[in-house]
Amino acid sequence: MMTIRSLLTVLVLAFLSGCSQSDRLRQILAEGEISVVSRNSPTTYYLYKEGAAGFEHDLAQLLAEELGVKLRMETAYSLAGIFRRLEREEVDLAAAGLSLTDDRSELFRRSVAYASMVPKVVYRTGNRRPAGLDELDDLHLVVLAGSSHEQALQALAAEAWPDLRWESVAEADTMELLERVDNGSADLAVIDSNEFGMQQSLYPMLAVAFDLGSEQDMVWYLPAGPEFRGLQRRVDQFLTRIQKDGSLAQLWEQYFGHTTVLSRIGSHTFARNIRTKLPAWRDLIRQVAKEYQLDWHLLAAISYQESHWEPEATSPTGVRGMMMLTNPTAKEMGVKDRLDPLQSLRGGARYLKDIRRRLPRDIQEPDRTWMALAAYNIGPAHLEDARMLTERHGGDPHLWSDVMAHLPLLQKREHYRTTRYGYARGGEATHFVQNIRHYYSILQWQDLSADQPGPPLNPEDYLPLALREKRFLAL
Ligand code: GLU
Repeated sequence: MMTIRSLLTVLVLAFLSGCSQSDRLRQILAEGEISVVSRNSPTTYYLYKEGAAGFEHDLAQLLAEELGVKLRMETAYSLAGIFRRLEREEVDLAAAGLSLTDDRSELFRRSVAYASMVPKVVYRTGNRRPAGLDELDDLHLVVLAGSSHEQALQALAAEAWPDLRWESVAEADTMELLERVDNGSADLAVIDSNEFGMQQSLYPMLAVAFDLGSEQDMVWYLPAGPEFRGLQRRVDQFLTRIQKDGSLAQLWEQYFGHTTVLSRIGSHTFARNIRTKLPAWRDLIRQVAKEYQLDWHLLAAISYQESHWEPEATSPTGVRGMMMLTNPTAKEMGVKDRLDPLQSLRGGARYLKDIRRRLPRDIQEPDRTWMALAAYNIGPAHLEDARMLTERHGGDPHLWSDVMAHLPLLQKREHYRTTRYGYARGGEATHFVQNIRHYYSILQWQDLSADQPGPPLNPEDYLPLALREKRFLAL
């Protein structure tokens, strides 16, 4: 029988092993650095001119700031590569738009859920649209190798659909899947709703055929070892806090909040115009953006929203030119000829900068720019009314997502009656800003994707699927 003394020894040893130097959280704090693996895509992590960006990157950066350490981001070039790094304990966590699955949870630690998504089966419009798995027949379905979707298909095949066939593509980027459906080398692809929303405008012919199952949780994964237990707890605390205080919702809004506004036809036209019309104006837009210290992608997005890059554009309401300036605005900005593209771009850029500068100081970027755009569209006075209504209804007038939700109230009598400046087409202003944000992000990504670092020469990441460690097949 165990004596009290030996029992105590066991307890003390257990305690010591639980919080000795092998505790990874302590090491991270002592070393001042946390390492996070992600994948390079517009929805997760990419390089931007000031450095790294992407929803997962920014989230990981917030964690690093909370811990008071530096963030080291690493890129894996396949989903298997991400989990291999975790298994070898080469990184502290994986943040890559990963779905929660039972198999993954058995092999790794996982955080609380911080977002959710619905897997979508995507097809090319004009082709046959299946309404469900029972209508796939001989359609060629592609899915990311090692993804939660591959796993879901395996389960479906084992349970109820023995004839289900698909091809698993060993690429980390869902764009590859969309590319295949777009160019006809596949008929269908499975992709998460948030990713499709963001990429759809690059592939305007693609649309959702049906949902593959219900909503899935998005989680971070950590290595399974006991030394990661403390870090896992800390990560959960952090994610719970940012869910409660609204900063997570704000970050999501920043990256995904503009993805569903464009119609398919609008996206199609935009993709075509980037190729056909933008090249003629790129240098001029760049030049003016530089003069006014604006991001040229933003100026390009605004001018596209205003005139579809048509310098001669005119509207029945009397606005004209590349930036569709009204006569009074043009006068105020010193524009003599509204149809001169250089003058028009300069007038619009200057007007936007003026408005942005005059907004209350406590509105931070990027909300500041979105609100400046709303004011550019309906005028600063109406924006002020919308901010007041936002506050009155318990929203935060410093957040674009809250103000945006209240702008359409300016069209309703019971609300605009109570404002200082009255009726305004608030719904239109909301669309104006959301469209621009959408164009802006596509233009940025188009420009950036060419500069992303290529995969390292790590043959493991390129081994054919069948040669990979068997356990990764199931991930
Ligand atoms: N969420 C997927 C996963 O966890 C990856 C993204 C995708 O395949 O669309 O495997």
